[in-house]
Amino acid sequence: MFFLLLLPLAAPAQAPACDILIRNGKIIDGTGNNWYYGDIAVSNEKIIDIGKQLNYSAGKIIDASGLIVAPGFIDVHTHLEEDETKDPMAQNFIYDGVTTCVTGNCGLSNTDIGKYMKFIDSLKLSINVATLVGHNDVREAVIGRANRDATAEEQRRMEDMVDKAMKDGAMGLSTGLIYIPGTFTKTPEIVALAKVVARYHGVYATHMRDEADSLTQAIEEALTIGKEANIPVEISHFKVSGQQNWGRSKQTVELIKKAREDGIDVTIDQYPYTASSTSVSTLIPDEILADGQDSIKARLLRPQIKKYVIDEMLRKLKKRKLKHFSYVVVANYQHDTTYNGKSIEAINRMKGSKHKAKAEAQTIIDIMVNGGASAVFHGMSEDDVKRIMQYPFNMFASDASIRVLNSGMPHPRGYGTNARILAKYVRQEKVISLEEAVRRMTSLPAQKFQLEDRGMLKKGYAADIVIFDENRVSDLSTFEKPHAYSMGFVYVIVNGKLTVDDKKHNGTRAGKALYGPGYHPL
Ligand SMILES: [Zn+2]
Repeated sequence: MFFLLLLPLAAPAQAPACDILIRNGKIIDGTGNNWYYGDIAVSNEKIIDIGKQLNYSAGKIIDASGLIVAPGFIDVHTHLEEDETKDPMAQNFIYDGVTTCVTGNCGLSNTDIGKYMKFIDSLKLSINVATLVGHNDVREAVIGRANRDATAEEQRRMEDMVDKAMKDGAMGLSTGLIYIPGTFTKTPEIVALAKVVARYHGVYATHMRDEADSLTQAIEEALTIGKEANIPVEISHFKVSGQQNWGRSKQTVELIKKAREDGIDVTIDQYPYTASSTSVSTLIPDEILADGQDSIKARLLRPQIKKYVIDEMLRKLKKRKLKHFSYVVVANYQHDTTYNGKSIEAINRMKGSKHKAKAEAQTIIDIMVNGGASAVFHGMSEDDVKRIMQYPFNMFASDASIRVLNSGMPHPRGYGTNARILAKYVRQEKVISLEEAVRRMTSLPAQKFQLEDRGMLKKGYAADIVIFDENRVSDLSTFEKPHAYSMGFVYVIVNGKLTVDDKKHNGTRAGKALYGPGYHPL
């Protein structure tokens, strides 16, 4: 009785204070559960309270009536390297709801992770950044671009580098087995490196050896590495390439399901488009690409080798059941920017060459001799994209970098990946539910990459929050006109700081480096 009488007197006369109070939103917490109405209070980088009709005094009150409130999206497959300074506001990501990027994918990263983390923190970007350590760069540092196995001594040095990277805060190891020198690597070398990462509970993320004809063998290799090194596997930008392979997602998704049933912790990610984007060099046989640009150029200028390369390209084109290299569209060719945005077929016509695949193959060789180019490859089917999308252990990732408005003709995925999922695949075509889409953008990636206090709207979690209009969210970036930010994200909060306020990036740069599971500050 005594206490009951005292309680009302002890209650504070004034409401407690917070930095930001979000009111009346439809909360989707990231777990995949249904939305509910609620308020969220944010202070000092954290969610300090969540519930109905919270009573706080706040520096900023956001009325989220009619809007979805969700955790900030986590993009586990990005390539920020060398673009970090181009737009510290990272607007392509922020306007697409992304608050955290995992970079260092496809075997490509900085090798001094400690230095990289400090560099990220010094930049003060608008997004959080975590990184993997890339096998290609580790191998290149030790062996160069040579086409051979590592010696025992070189293997040990690579393992030491990966060990240090994990202690410095890497999330795990990435491979890019279609790129030089990753393509020269045999499975046991990767298993041994993955074992080092597994000691720290890191992940193994892979751009597999093949995404077309040898797709199932490539998946088997990734699963073998997972099993032998006892490490969680993330298969990057999961897809089925080449017209001749369309429909094979039935088998490949089954392979992943089966592996999970067998106890391998394998997950996949995907960008929601039917075109890929990578270097034009992927059209050239691997052995031609060893030892750097001077060697590539020397080889391609020798008539016999040139003939072999052209024959190989034509053979593969025929396999795709295509008569022209119309499916390859140049994105960025520094030697001659008039090529950007045009297909190899169109470039060839522009040059006045014969309208023949052979002449187009010569154009590809000319591009390689002049330093190479990035390109967009239109080679997937919508049915495969949707089938992969429906798989519950698939997350959404852009495979992109920080974009600079109006520079080159890049793949639209760097601007619109998440908005496209929410607009086209959730709202219009109902391929998956809104709550499920949000789960794949938030808690699934956070838990896989061990970002332990992110990816959910929960008391004590980091205040990375997006507030969007589910009826208006849309990607505006297209292959023809890629340079357009997504719309529909009304507020974006990163580490408790309002970064998009009433649909406009306000210049706030509150992101930070996020450290992996092996990191122990001295
Ligand atoms: Zn890749």
